[in-house]
Amino acid sequence: MSIKPPTYTLDHPEIRESVSRLCEEFPGGYWRKCDREQVYPGEFVQALTEAGFLSALIPEEFEGSGLPLSAGAAILEEIHRSGSNAGACHAQMYTMGTLLRHGSQEQKQQYLPAIARGELRLQAFGVTEPTSGTDTTALRTTAHRKGDDYIVNGQKIWTSRAQYSDLMILLCRTTPREQVEKKTDGLSVLLVDMREARDKTLTIRPIRTMMNHATTEIFFDDMHVPVENLIGEEGRGFRYILSGMNAERILIASECIGDAKWFIEKATAYASQRWVFGKPIGKNQGVQFPIARAYAQMRAAELVLREAIRLYDAGENPGEEANLAKMLAADASWAAAEMCVQTHGGFGFAEEYDVERKFREARLYQVAPISTNLILSYLGEHVLGLPRSY
Ligand SMILES: Cc1cc2nc3c(=O)[nH]c(=O)nc-3n(C[C@H](O)[C@H](O)[C@H](O)COP(=O)(O)OP(=O)(O)OC[C@H]3O[C@@H](n4cnc5c(N)ncnc54)[C@H](O)[C@@H]3O)c2cc1C
Repeated sequence: MSIKPPTYTLDHPEIRESVSRLCEEFPGGYWRKCDREQVYPGEFVQALTEAGFLSALIPEEFEGSGLPLSAGAAILEEIHRSGSNAGACHAQMYTMGTLLRHGSQEQKQQYLPAIARGELRLQAFGVTEPTSGTDTTALRTTAHRKGDDYIVNGQKIWTSRAQYSDLMILLCRTTPREQVEKKTDGLSVLLVDMREARDKTLTIRPIRTMMNHATTEIFFDDMHVPVENLIGEEGRGFRYILSGMNAERILIASECIGDAKWFIEKATAYASQRWVFGKPIGKNQGVQFPIARAYAQMRAAELVLREAIRLYDAGENPGEEANLAKMLAADASWAAAEMCVQTHGGFGFAEEYDVERKFREARLYQVAPISTNLILSYLGEHVLGLPRSY
């Protein structure tokens, strides 16, 4: 059984097919090995880069394909639907947006074509810190101006892919919180070239996690960043980071939809072919209905996601739809993951079926890049007008 493709024109069937073909070169065994050894899937990322998928959203004037967000969403969904995982490289699609929207013409000219050609990697996004967590404006990493440089001190955590990236988008405080009227002021975004500073003023420590994600903690110890690497205006960085959130939510939701489809297809195939008590287990409605329910949940989330993508590509700012899509898609993928393990019985726990790996991977989206509670809080406050809780 194969889940029918949606009929929307913005769904890029040719791109989906090419991505799917590329992913066939990276079957379950490849991902299992990377997972077991917690190794970065460098060959996969290289193949995506060479095929131009990671530069799909970079405008043509900077040597990218200049495609709309819907194309990025299609690429990531297909990667996950194929059983692969885009976590090793997806950030470039949205971190690049910060540079594109708020960077100067010189910065864009200097970095974007090299990123599009695959010569430079912009995979790291340093926002979260150990002590501030979700309360981003409480972050403590500082950047002080000294001559033509900013001097950066502090610590980030969960900075994924930092070891496999040349550049990092870094959010840090340039004016102390006590000296600004609004706590969202005084934060700035720096584009950090990590190659020079690594192992000198920048230390990266990997964090082992329940799935293979190449995430790290990072320490800055008087790290120099040239002032010309400030993105936009000093003190307005929080707004720049926020402005990329809708795209990030939409792209992550697409991965979740891809995962949900993978789980549903996998469970459907298994339930049809596994015979117990003289018949396929899928004949039992106790097995069949959870699969059907997971499908219904995935389709509902997918429709909200399509709406978010449509609005985004039409130039709107679909905060509500992007947040809804992220939450519903993450819930749909997690429900499908749970269903898929149950459908497989004991084999759901066996490494060679890939179900347990995808199950661990799908769990992340309840927490990162934004936790479900924070989405509910956005909906409560900004959509429903309920009083602010923090
Ligand atoms: C594998 C992985 C990769 C990541 N990659 C990156 C990355 O590349 N770059 C980056 O900057 N960050 C990254 N993150 C960080 C991620 O964005 C955060 O983990 C996430 O936003 C939650 O923040 P926290 O872990 O500090 O949780 P906390 O803020 O400590 O929250 C803990 C729990 O309390 C809940 N909570 C907190 N405050 C409230 C409230 N007011 N109301 C209700 N509930 C609340 C949260 O929902 C959460 O469930 C990554 C995280 C993981 C696990």
